[in-house]
Amino acid sequence: MNMHVPEQLVIRPPSEAKSLLVRVVRGCHWNRCAFCGIYDLFGVPYSQRSLEDVLKDIDALSERYGDIFTTAFLGDADPLNLDASFLIEVLRHLRLKFPRLKRITSYGRASSLAKKSQEDLSALSEAGLNRVHVGFESGCDQVLRLQKKGTSQRQLVDAGRKVMATGMELSFYFLLGLGGRDLWKEHAGESAKVLNEVKPHFIRIRRLYIHPLSRLSEKLKTGDFREQTPEGTVLELKYLLEGLDAEGSTFACDHANNYLQVFGRLNAEKDRMLGIIDAFLALPERQRIAHYESIPSVI
Ligand code: SF4
Repeated sequence: MNMHVPEQLVIRPPSEAKSLLVRVVRGCHWNRCAFCGIYDLFGVPYSQRSLEDVLKDIDALSERYGDIFTTAFLGDADPLNLDASFLIEVLRHLRLKFPRLKRITSYGRASSLAKKSQEDLSALSEAGLNRVHVGFESGCDQVLRLQKKGTSQRQLVDAGRKVMATGMELSFYFLLGLGGRDLWKEHAGESAKVLNEVKPHFIRIRRLYIHPLSRLSEKLKTGDFREQTPEGTVLELKYLLEGLDAEGSTFACDHANNYLQVFGRLNAEKDRMLGIIDAFLALPERQRIAHYESIPSVI
């Protein structure tokens, strides 16, 4: 009997709720985004894991669960920052121990993806990495700088196109409210440009939650950041969607903290989705306010 205890992840995307979770790296090597602080919150500093330990985790998970999983997710924040050769070993071992896996996915920072050669990304795809989740958050350089995201509009487009060229599925996460009340139009408008250039398979929408321990919370107190209003968030969603021309992308507000759960294929269902937003905005004010108050603020 294998006595090795596999390590656990801090977070995973909602779409990976039923996936086998494999910790390839601990925490986030960047860990500077002003709005984030998730790994500080959970007290997880960044450190790399040895290949031997990760492979032992996979062996122990296989003994514990058998071959029941059809999807797997690699964490924590940015495994794609590791050497391709390391990840290929992990992917091959996973495929060997869990032959029923149809999908293996990972978080990846755009800067890490942009640094990888097209050959390395294709080799990862061939080794079995099928989907990458990128928290692009914003395509607006001003917002990216303000939030210390450590990437740029150009890099986002470059990274996105490279991933799409491999045939891997790409999820881009947009964060409503990240430009605050002052930069919301630039935030949504410039983000639409990135999404139109890349046309990722999934455009996933999240709403900014300012955790009291995040650096952004300090900016809020000093007045350097003015938080977006609930109604402003809905207008921002509408402005983003209006600017999209991303044929083939799926648009999904698939998180509990979104004020509106709009979901559909672009461009065919764009008008239907805009219709849902307009119908909500046409409701009496007290109904809209009651709705905003009913939505939880969660990470
Ligand atoms: S948002 Fe992602 S890249 Fe930025 S600090 Fe948090 S985990 Fe790291």
